[in-house]
Amino acid sequence: MNVMEIFETMEYGPAPEAAAPGLSWIQEHSPFNLFINNQWVKPASGQYIDSINPATGKRLAQVAAANSADVDAAVAAGRAAFETWGKTPGHVRARYMYAIARHIQKHSRLLAVLESLDNGKPIRETRDIDIPLVARHFYYHAGWAQLMESELPGYQPVGVVGQIIPWNFPLLMLAWKIAPALAMGNTIVLKPARYTSLTALKFAEIVQEIGLPPGVVNILTGEASQVGEALVRHPDINKIAFTGSTDVGRSIRRATAGSGKKLSLELGGKSPFIVFDDADLDSVVEGVVDAIWFNQGQVCCAGSRLLVQEDIADRLIEKLRERMEHLRIGDPLDKAVDIGAIVSPGQLKEIQRLVNKGVEEGAVMWQPSWACPTEGYFFPPTLFTNVSPATTIAQVEIFGPVLVSMTFRTPAEAVELANNTPYGLAASVWSENINLALDVAPKLKAGSVWINCTNLFDASSGFGGYRESGFGREGGKEGLYEYVRPKWETHEAPSSELHIAIESASTNGSKPQAPADEDAEAEGLDHISTSADGYSALLPAIDRTSKMFIGGKQTRADSGYSRDVYDPQGRVIGQVGEGNRKDIRNAVEAAHAAHGWAAGTAHNRAQILYYMAENLSAREEEFARKIVQQTGRSYVDAAAEVQATISRLFSYAAWADKYEGAVHRPPLRGVVLAMPEAIGVIGIACPEEYPLLGFVSLVAPAIAMGNTIVVVPSQVSPLSATDCYQVLETSDLPGGVVNIVTGDRDELSQVLADHDDVDAMWYFGPAEGCKRVELASAGNMKRTWVSYGHPRDWMDRVQGEGEEFLREATQVKNIWVPYGE
Ligand code: NDP
Repeated sequence: MNVMEIFETMEYGPAPEAAAPGLSWIQEHSPFNLFINNQWVKPASGQYIDSINPATGKRLAQVAAANSADVDAAVAAGRAAFETWGKTPGHVRARYMYAIARHIQKHSRLLAVLESLDNGKPIRETRDIDIPLVARHFYYHAGWAQLMESELPGYQPVGVVGQIIPWNFPLLMLAWKIAPALAMGNTIVLKPARYTSLTALKFAEIVQEIGLPPGVVNILTGEASQVGEALVRHPDINKIAFTGSTDVGRSIRRATAGSGKKLSLELGGKSPFIVFDDADLDSVVEGVVDAIWFNQGQVCCAGSRLLVQEDIADRLIEKLRERMEHLRIGDPLDKAVDIGAIVSPGQLKEIQRLVNKGVEEGAVMWQPSWACPTEGYFFPPTLFTNVSPATTIAQVEIFGPVLVSMTFRTPAEAVELANNTPYGLAASVWSENINLALDVAPKLKAGSVWINCTNLFDASSGFGGYRESGFGREGGKEGLYEYVRPKWETHEAPSSELHIAIESASTNGSKPQAPADEDAEAEGLDHISTSADGYSALLPAIDRTSKMFIGGKQTRADSGYSRDVYDPQGRVIGQVGEGNRKDIRNAVEAAHAAHGWAAGTAHNRAQILYYMAENLSAREEEFARKIVQQTGRSYVDAAAEVQATISRLFSYAAWADKYEGAVHRPPLRGVVLAMPEAIGVIGIACPEEYPLLGFVSLVAPAIAMGNTIVVVPSQVSPLSATDCYQVLETSDLPGGVVNIVTGDRDELSQVLADHDDVDAMWYFGPAEGCKRVELASAGNMKRTWVSYGHPRDWMDRVQGEGEEFLREATQVKNIWVPYGE
């Protein structure tokens, strides 16, 4: 081609990055062994698996196939190292992490080449996005290591953490996992994906180079069935952090249920890319390229659903097709290539299967006229139009370069369409009207919202999902809490000891034995008004059966049954409704109908919480007496519980308009607004101890943050909660915000945990109940917060209130707002 022709066609010539340094590093090391205790160790099985270059289909290297014996060895190394690393001062950890960041930068080009060879992604991306973000992650978290003692004073590391990462961003996912874990003083056993282990092994070399103490980071390559599952089930692992498919995430949730392991899951997505008719369409086109053809579309937060306002749809689709004609696919090491290879033949086949399905379902498929390379695993950029929202390709994560487009007319329709999948990882909104964009952003069920931009990531800004995209955040201060636990939590494993006393005192349908020396006169007094007028004292008290509290109304139990409530001597002191599945369903419906609560102002929520405190205070003595009656504790003790409850309501009234999130300043011209949002409908099973304080300590933070709730009060002592009905009614609390269903705690909790319209479940009870709740939550991947049978001192302000509760009551949405023309 001559110069004249080049000007004519504007064709790029080849601009290959040299593969030689990467290949010779691989040659020096292959077959790769396991990295345990800073040593390269042969796998117990003696087996190795091939690592393939997806751009050629040829073998690049062999890596060790670890098995459960290697997992045991790595976890033991991590446990031994934790003894020291967990106590190493933050400043020392910061120095190590700073050294890691420096070394990443020193080896940046080698890492970029290795990543492209191993994963098939274009060098332009590994060099300019993946590796710089990896370094940034370690620098940023070196800072948190330095600041941990002052900024998270009430927290300690979790222990040994198991981390399982996918193949789509091999080194970046490693950084997202390892950096916060190290910063907070944990030790690590990490399993890379079997297709893409090489940069993790180079990272292990860096760990050796900088002299990180042995056992702090251990890396095990191999198959999911051998390494991943063994890690998940290992009894000496304190936390699992996973990124990958929703199906595997669900199986991990089930496998860890009741084990007491902390869990964070970053799962799939089907993220909307919403274009309003006033958007700058040329920018939109480039945005779409980044949203769905970045990393061949193998991105959990890929903008894979293009939602376009109807009047501009044809114009945008035409522009997009034109742009797709000019995308360049081919050798990932070519610096002028936009789209590289798909990671594996299996993934390629799956993409093809789903594309065929789309065609079968009647959508219109379009691909550019040019052909893909025939060697290696390539798939062309693909656009579907005429897609109906309920079809497979509109609902299922394709995880390839395939975009489906749909149209909408109004902003409300756009939001509805955007939220019409079980996922909630990310969303992108395009409009020149910032008011419109900022109005839409909070309505989207997504952990990240990008305004007039897409696929931006930074260590300062947490990343993670809503709904079936998982829970937990990576990055930002919120990400640190995934790797710490409160210092007051001294226990290591779930306990079934607590609650035994309570369980044996529980009525459970059968009346406990009354003491032999039962004092009939004293019992009578419980039922007779104590008025001093001498007349009413002769009358029996008016019978009061507590009902359910659903949708702001007192309703009878659907079952038509009541259950007796006893005092510690076994005397009946009242009845409450026997709630069932139907009552829970009604309560969840009422809670959903009250969604306006989250949209109201925080000031308003604060006012109502203060009002509740005021109304409770007016009946202080009565509430204290009810606690005495139910628990047999002294009046002074019970009065202290009521006082603490009033104070707790004040605390959350105070927090309601002060738990505000942050404004991040990532390295971009713009800001990221990190907004803690209500989770939605939370199911709450209250502890048995402290019938009033335990109830309010959970209800108040949940509603202060804008959630609506369905609460199962203490099973043994429910009357303090049912006495709150009038307090709630007289405090201007809208109907449906707090719904109370009395009855068998575990039966009702199970219904709540199984319910697909419940977004989170809190359970404070025996270890077995916690396990059941965690197991059931895997259905819709609801967030859970359980006590694992451990006690909490509800009277203590450190344990009984504060940010831990507020964090559990919220999920952070990061809204990226770039600025400048
Ligand atoms: P997986 O979820 O299967 O794999 C992710 C990681 O988990 C890998 O390290 C894998 O190991 C490991 N793993 C798999 N099964 C288990 C298990 N039972 N217990 C413990 N660890 C396990 O993703 P795939 O690689 O199979 O991809 C399948 C689909 O998942 C993709 O098509 C895409 O839709 C989605 N996906 C989503 C990602 C995201 O970021 N949200 C990332 C990757 C995939 P191994 O590699 O050895 O199998």
